Amino acid sequence: MFITPENISKSSVCVQCGRCSSGCPVAFESPHTPRKIIRFLQLGQVEMACRSPFLWFCAMCQACTVRCPQGVGVSEIMLSLRRLGIENGWITKDLWYYKIFTEMIEKKGKIDELRLGLAAAFHKGPLHPIEDALLLFKLWRRGKI
Ligand code: SF4
Ligand code: SF4
Repeated sequence: MFITPENISKSSVCVQCGRCSSGCPVAFESPHTPRKIIRFLQLGQVEMACRSPFLWFCAMCQACTVRCPQGVGVSEIMLSLRRLGIENGWITKDLWYYKIFTEMIEKKGKIDELRLGLAAAFHKGPLHPIEDALLLFKLWRRGKI
């Protein structure tokens, strides 16, 4: 499911009851809740919705979709917004990990742990070359990379 004018218009049936947010196991992690993300869409603020860190906390558990009395596919919308955010370059800087992760999956269909580990070491800054090298060595010894 992709965010299209039709999908956004489906969010218009949301009555903002908040049942999705009250059943969401990760809503407390972000200032935005599933209800608020749907509200952004209702207001035409698609970019704002895509930029919300909440999308990346979502565990795709489907609790919101099951609880919604209006039949809004909340979890599917979260997933679609992630993709839309990446495609449009709206993804925020601190979400680099997810960007690299999804790029790897899209290109190779699997994760390259060594590359992901090196990318993490360079992005997190400041660099801790000795600790990072030791961690990579331990992972390599255990056959994890
Ligand atoms: S449960 Fe459904 S109707 Fe209620 S706020 Fe969430 S999306 Fe809207
Ligand atoms: S699918 Fe995502 S938004 Fe919906 S309840 Fe689960 S974690 Fe929350």
